[in-house]
Amino acid sequence: MASIPENLQAVRERIRRAAEAAGRPAGSISLLAVTKGVNAARIAEAVAAGQSAFGENFAQEAVEKITELERSGTGPLAWHFIGPLQGNKTGLVAPRFDWVHSVDRERIARRLAAARPEGMKPLQVCIQVNVSGEASKSGVRPGEEEHLAEIIAQLPRLELRGLMTIPEPSPDARVRRRRFALLRERLEALTARGYRLDTLSMGMSDDLEDAIAEGATLVRVGTAIFGPRRT
Ligand SMILES: *Cc1c(COP(=O)(O)O)cnc(C)c1O
Repeated sequence: MASIPENLQAVRERIRRAAEAAGRPAGSISLLAVTKGVNAARIAEAVAAGQSAFGENFAQEAVEKITELERSGTGPLAWHFIGPLQGNKTGLVAPRFDWVHSVDRERIARRLAAARPEGMKPLQVCIQVNVSGEASKSGVRPGEEEHLAEIIAQLPRLELRGLMTIPEPSPDARVRRRRFALLRERLEALTARGYRLDTLSMGMSDDLEDAIAEGATLVRVGTAIFGPRRT
């Protein structure tokens, strides 16, 4: 298994090639390194290799690692919460993260806004959209993001940046592309209504090329950087 710096280099190269193939500047796509199950020492290896934005799925696990990395003087780092968010975890997430990608209901948006400390920059948020329609996945149904965007726009401690999705994996590249295209179309619809948005959070280790072809501005990559998760 290659080292974390080598893997990071390989992922950056994939992003560069996919951007080039799509006729987009490589700098228009940012890389979020997903660190669920990855300990602070290995996160620090990625930091040493130039990575500064990290995504976490579990509030308690994340806060422990953020605290440990802060104590050791690693950073500054940007932390993105990307996992399903329960109401009782918003108080833990709102003061410790810079971004939350997984806002999918009004109650969570209001709780995050209430828990974001006054002196901090507003919490940067994305609305999660369920583009493949499975009953079990989180995210609003396509179209429902418009109502949630209206609510978030009224909340002073939150700043809406865009949309996020986790499509069901598909072996068919056309299906993958169509799902990412749907998220891009939903973002364009919000932009047409006057929202100033700049983030399409889509694409992971197995499908980042398809996501970039459809306009991803941020890809979330775990396995291709840190190896398979032992869960
Ligand atoms: C785990 C996770 C990722 C990273 O997935 P990989 O396939 O390991 O790259 C991206 N986004 C979310 C929301 C995740 O939970």
